[in-house]
Amino acid sequence: MVEYAERVRGALLGGSLGDALGWPIEFDQLEQIRQRFGPDGLTDLRAAGRGGQVTDDTQMTLFTAEGLIRGRADGAQVPVAMHQAYQRWLLTQNQQGPEAVPPTPPNDGWLLRQPFLYASRAPGNACTSGIAHHRTYRRPAPFGQDGPINPNSKGCGTVMRSAPFGLARLGVEWSFWLSAQCSQLTHGHPTGYLAAGAFSALIERVTAGVPLSQAVTETIEQVAAYPSSEETVEALRRAVRVAAEGVPSAEAVERVGLGWIAEECLAIAVYCALAGRSAAQALVLSVNHSGDSDSTGAVCGNLVGALYGEAALPAEWLAVVEGREVVTQVADDLVAAFGGNAASLGDRYPA
Ligand SMILES: [Mg+2]
Repeated sequence: MVEYAERVRGALLGGSLGDALGWPIEFDQLEQIRQRFGPDGLTDLRAAGRGGQVTDDTQMTLFTAEGLIRGRADGAQVPVAMHQAYQRWLLTQNQQGPEAVPPTPPNDGWLLRQPFLYASRAPGNACTSGIAHHRTYRRPAPFGQDGPINPNSKGCGTVMRSAPFGLARLGVEWSFWLSAQCSQLTHGHPTGYLAAGAFSALIERVTAGVPLSQAVTETIEQVAAYPSSEETVEALRRAVRVAAEGVPSAEAVERVGLGWIAEECLAIAVYCALAGRSAAQALVLSVNHSGDSDSTGAVCGNLVGALYGEAALPAEWLAVVEGREVVTQVADDLVAAFGGNAASLGDRYPA
């Protein structure tokens, strides 16, 4: 049995590996990828040619973890803390580096001082516009009275940042609900936030040691109980169906989806985790297609990292991925914050 802390590290590091592996081919068609890297596509992070760079998916995931840690004292206040954490993320996309941001509240904390997070790597429009829309927190519909933010947006920017909700051992109902509510800070379409809620609950189940296929079945039942969940449920069922057909392939991935939209991004990650026989095989499968390779890679990496643990991730890729030490520290901080060892957080996360 893989230990909890090992799964949390695996989830965050695995996400960064998939993000880095997919980033060089995010906007390429499958045919172009095969012409460039050979018939099997891009199969090794060291061959990817971008020095292991990570993108907005990893960057925002770290700020999601920060929001959870800083807001942990009062669960009802987590969306407020998350709003502030995403405001800090937006600063990283608008400023040259930490030296341009005076470390005064709410722009305090250790994470905002990390220079590599200031790289702008094709962040999603709904994420930047949604966060820029409100300087102070206002509870978005349908959980509040204010109108939905980006009501037609169901891009994968919700799913790709939401693994940490499932790593904090909040209980699958609460991790689902918090994840879905915080997704509405940027995406108002039900599929955008329900797919993220489902992903977080799935991560929580896998992190607790529930076998993957059972965890997927339970998560489909959970999300199906919500109104407007049809697209998410259908995409997840499609992932299970295609995975049962046999030999994994890029063509099979593309029958599950392309991953630009939330439910397809989640479904591709689930397909690849079910079909792949190892973390590395699932990661390779998750990025070699004509869709949103860095986000499908990041979400699949979160999932297989939680499933198999840090030790099962390719060591040669971990050696070159950007931000490994910070990602590892944040994983350990999540474990400490929600495992009764908050003293070890030091002053990295002001309340
Ligand atoms: Mg990205």
